[in-house]
Amino acid sequence: MKCRVCRGPAVIDVRRHNANFCQDHFLRLCRDQTEKAIGQFEMLQPDDRVLVAVSGGKDSLALWDILIALGYEADGFYIGLGIGDYSDESHGYAQRFAQQRGLTLLVDDLLRDHGFDVPHGSRAAKRAPCSACGLSKRHLFDDAARRGGYDAIVTGHNLDDEAAVLMGNVLHWQTDYLGRQSPHLPAANGFPKKVKPLVRLSERDTAAYCLLRGIDYLVDECPMAAGNKHLSYKAALNDIEVDSPGAKHAFYFGFLDRAADRFVPATGETGDVIISPCTRCGAPCSNEVCAFCSLTERATASVPIEMGRTRRRTGARA
Ligand code: SF4
Ligand code: ZN
Ligand code: ZN
Repeated sequence: MKCRVCRGPAVIDVRRHNANFCQDHFLRLCRDQTEKAIGQFEMLQPDDRVLVAVSGGKDSLALWDILIALGYEADGFYIGLGIGDYSDESHGYAQRFAQQRGLTLLVDDLLRDHGFDVPHGSRAAKRAPCSACGLSKRHLFDDAARRGGYDAIVTGHNLDDEAAVLMGNVLHWQTDYLGRQSPHLPAANGFPKKVKPLVRLSERDTAAYCLLRGIDYLVDECPMAAGNKHLSYKAALNDIEVDSPGAKHAFYFGFLDRAADRFVPATGETGDVIISPCTRCGAPCSNEVCAFCSLTERATASVPIEMGRTRRRTGARA
């Protein structure tokens, strides 16, 4: 097995490119593909200050590493979700990555700073854990980016993630969501720009990137993901990819090239809804109270407070 670029011994095959690569040229491929996605979708300007959503997993740490290598000013943002050992461990991986490289990692903690964690809060608010978690993460990322003056929130969603989301949206003809499949959501109505520079890399690519770069990451998936439809769509796409290398790429990028502009967002951050500040926290929203403050109110209403660990907060942050 020889590297397609230098003909030296290859360490990995990338079937969708029908090619093998040595360590140096595989790492370069990952950076080049990230740079290409950033340019293709006009995600970032060279002087943008970016906030990387860091979970401690392979995608977010690979992304942070690549953005630094590409010369971006990139800080990390980690949210403690209170999901048992998973959260404790993931925080440790994110912290070590940042410390070893002298990078800035901002940290918010749902229980400490907002009075609830995902397992208890979602039960109290009668929402699915992933729904409460996703809502909280979106709000806290937006909030951190606004307060820190960042130009963009950057997330580690890869090709497997985006193809699986597309599959779910097509299976259920979620036309609003299909209009928001672009890996670049521009800033609008007080919400910061959100971009996904890893859309040209697969999950296997980011795992191999971390391995070859010596990046230690949390391998375990979040325990709340079990039974999630997203995982079954990923598995179905993986089966298709085995017989048809490049199918995921063709599915996702074919949609963006040929069909995405037919699905115009009906409502939401880029829609024509009336936006005004949340009366509790000041975040832009379409109601009097934003979804996160409503969730916090319901989630903290019946969560037992652990002495010394939590405090309820629903007001604006100083
Ligand atoms: Fe949050 Fe669900 Fe993802 Fe776990 S699997 S981190 S609960 S969105
Ligand atoms: Zn090579
Ligand atoms: Zn609010």
